[in-house]
Amino acid sequence: MTYPKLKLDYNKLKDNVATMKQRCLDGGISTLAGVTKVFSADPRMAQAYVEGGVDFLADSRIQNIKKLQDFPVPKILLRIPMLSEVEDVVKYADYSLNSELETLRALNEAAKKQDKTHKVVLMADLGDLREGFFKEEDFYEAVEEVLGLEGLYLAGIGVNLTCYGAVIPKPEILNQLNIYKEEIKARYDHDLEIVSGGNSSSVYLVGKEDLPGINNLRLGEALVLGTESAYAQNIEGLNQDAWTLEAQIIECKEKPSVPTADELGLDAFGHEPSFVDRGIRMRAIIGLGKQDIDTENMIPLDPDVIILGGSSDHIIIDVTDAKKDYKVGDILSFRLSYGGILSLCTSEFVEKEVVK
Ligand SMILES: *Cc1c(COP(=O)(O)O)cnc(C)c1O
Repeated sequence: MTYPKLKLDYNKLKDNVATMKQRCLDGGISTLAGVTKVFSADPRMAQAYVEGGVDFLADSRIQNIKKLQDFPVPKILLRIPMLSEVEDVVKYADYSLNSELETLRALNEAAKKQDKTHKVVLMADLGDLREGFFKEEDFYEAVEEVLGLEGLYLAGIGVNLTCYGAVIPKPEILNQLNIYKEEIKARYDHDLEIVSGGNSSSVYLVGKEDLPGINNLRLGEALVLGTESAYAQNIEGLNQDAWTLEAQIIECKEKPSVPTADELGLDAFGHEPSFVDRGIRMRAIIGLGKQDIDTENMIPLDPDVIILGGSSDHIIIDVTDAKKDYKVGDILSFRLSYGGILSLCTSEFVEKEVVK
């Protein structure tokens, strides 16, 4: 047994994908891209997406896309490519999201060199102010450019919301994509394969609102955690408990709750700490630290313990009020937020176990 350990219940993730896929279909959304970045595209976990029925695997990082090569499912690079990576983008990703003419031209050159046609999804910025063409004339200029480049194929258009600007997707906002789609058909007689209406913040609209033209969503959080990100609600019928973090207690002792010195400086991260005096308490230290996860991204499964804080390699937990009599070697378990899973999966110090 190695700790700390992040455990994934494979069937819970697979079932989330299958349920979400069916809801998308029922709501008129014909394809689903499963976003793998939260688990660093671990192929054992991506397998659950594929078995659950995703139509695409999508990730922001080309290193992650490379790990997915063995799956017979088309891959989408989500982050706008860097000029320095266009060769790899063409080599490993079937599609990429784009918003810069210069990058599109570089992708075209790379594709021609590799004797490939690279599929492009042009991003529209509909107010969230992250990636995408903000002005309509710039958007159409890019459409025309891509249609004229022989190494590229204009596969689709898309939008990303609720990431930077926290804009909540509404049918009237997403309708702009439909306008673009219809206009591209009218002006250039070109049909789009993908009209991608966003991420897990668009899920609350599925099956409730008419979303003309939208035929794809790119989902990470909704599949992994069973939550939607417009209003931070649980999605009914999905599992919210597919992931569990387990950490081992390395010290467990009674100590005061306020440091015992007259003068206090700054903590390990340069912050001035504050303490509540609860008297003498039983304090457990687990072998896990802020290098692996921010303490606000983990929720103890034992409702009677309190996370006090931590430093890069230690997290301190008040176990005084727990019904269980914790001692060295015992395991404490936690639920995780999206950011928690993301950082644990990135840490090489955390064991990842897929339980089938
Ligand atoms: C991360 C990402 C997604 C998935 O977001 P979730 O909120 O996890 O569903 C979709 N599209 C893009 C462009 C992304 O970067």
